[in-house]
Amino acid sequence: MSSATKPTVSERIGVVGAGQLARMMGEAARDVGVTITLLANAPDDSAVATCSTVLVGAANDELALRELASAVDVITFDHELVDLEVLGKLEAEGVILRPSSEALRYAVDKAFQRQALEAAGIAVPRFLVVRSTTDERLASFLDELASPPVVKAARGGYDGRGVAFPSNRDETLEVIDEMSRAGDVVVEEHLQLTEEVAQLVVRSVDGSVVFYPVVSTVQRDGMCVEVHYPSDLDEKATDEAFHLSESVASLIRGVGVMAIEYFVTDDGVLVNEVALRPHNSGHWTIEGTLTSQFAQHLRAVSGQPLASATPVTSHATMVNVVGADLPGSLDAARSVGDTFVHDYGKSWRPGRKLGHVTALGDEPASPHVRAWNSARAYGTVTREA
Ligand code: ADP
Repeated sequence: MSSATKPTVSERIGVVGAGQLARMMGEAARDVGVTITLLANAPDDSAVATCSTVLVGAANDELALRELASAVDVITFDHELVDLEVLGKLEAEGVILRPSSEALRYAVDKAFQRQALEAAGIAVPRFLVVRSTTDERLASFLDELASPPVVKAARGGYDGRGVAFPSNRDETLEVIDEMSRAGDVVVEEHLQLTEEVAQLVVRSVDGSVVFYPVVSTVQRDGMCVEVHYPSDLDEKATDEAFHLSESVASLIRGVGVMAIEYFVTDDGVLVNEVALRPHNSGHWTIEGTLTSQFAQHLRAVSGQPLASATPVTSHATMVNVVGADLPGSLDAARSVGDTFVHDYGKSWRPGRKLGHVTALGDEPASPHVRAWNSARAYGTVTREA
C-alpha cells in the first residue's frame, strides 16, 4: 500500500463543550494516542482539568470555533447546544466535524429527529410537532390520547429540562404556549412504561460499527439515577432494541458514539431519543467493558479502528451523584470498598450532577448495593430504584 492510501489518524481532537463528558474524554485521550483542545465556556469548566489545551468561548461563536478549527485536525462535541448553520459553514470550508453537522441535526432538534425516525419506519411514540396552540391538528390529536400528553421543547432541553407532564387540557395548552415561544414543540402520548433501556452504537469513519450491550436506565423525576448491566429486558425485547439500534445507526450515520434511549411498553420497544456523543448510560463502560465509550468515541473520531465493547464482568451498576441540600463527602464515598468513584470537579450545588459511582461483580445484588452505598455516602439526592 502506498503511504497516500493509508488512513490518516487525526491526533489533534477539538472538543466543543467542557462538561463531564469532555472531562472523561480527556482522561481517555492518552491511551488512544490523541490530544484534546477544548472549547470551554469558562476556565473552571469540568474538563479543563483533564485536557491539554483550553480555549475559552461559546459553543456557537463562529470566531471561537474558527480558532478551535485552526488548532486541531477534527472537531467533536460534548453536548448538542450548537448552531448547525455555523457548523455547516465551517464544514463547507473544509473543517472536519465528527459527527457531521448533518448527523448532529438529529440530536439538536427533537422534532426533526422524531419525524425522520418515523419516516424511516422506526418505532417512536405517537407525536405531533406544533408551532403554536392554534395549530388546527392539535385538538384532535389530544382528543385521541387516553391521557394528557408529554410536551417537549424541540431544542435546548436536557436532563428532563424542556420536558413537561401536564395533568389536564388547560395545563397542556399553557405549557405548549410557553414552549412554542422558543420554537417547535413535540407533543406526544404519555406512555405506560414498563422499562427504560439504552444502547450505545459506535461508528467509525469507514462505516464499521460496534454495539455495546443494552442496559437498563432507571429514572426519577425525569433524570437518570441508575444504569445497570445487563438490562432487565427479556431476549425478545433485547433483540427488538438491537434491530432498532441498527436501523437508527444506519439512518443517522454519525461518526462516534450514538446513544439510543428506548421506552419499553407492553406493546414493544420504541425509540425515545438519540444523542450523538458519549452518554450517561455508558459511564459504566469506563471500568465495565474492554473499551470505554470515551476511548471508543476518540478512536472513531480520530479515524482509528474500533475496539471490543465486551463487558469484563457479568454485572455492573452505575449510580449518578446529584447534589443534595448539603454538600456530601467524596472521602466517605471512596471508603466504600470495591467501587469506582468519579468526581467531575464541579462546585457543589443542589440538583447538579457532581459525579458517578460504578461497581462491578459476577452476581447482581452486590454491585447494586456497593454503588448505592458509595453514592449515598457521597451525598447524592437520588433515591434508590
Ligand atoms: P431529556 O432529553 O431531557 O432526557 P426525555 O425525552 O428523555 O428528556 O425525557 C425524560 C424522561 O421523562 C424519560 O426518561 C422518561 O422517564 C420520561 N418521559 C419522557 N417522554 C415520555 C413519554 N412519552 N411517556 C412517558 N414518559 C416519558
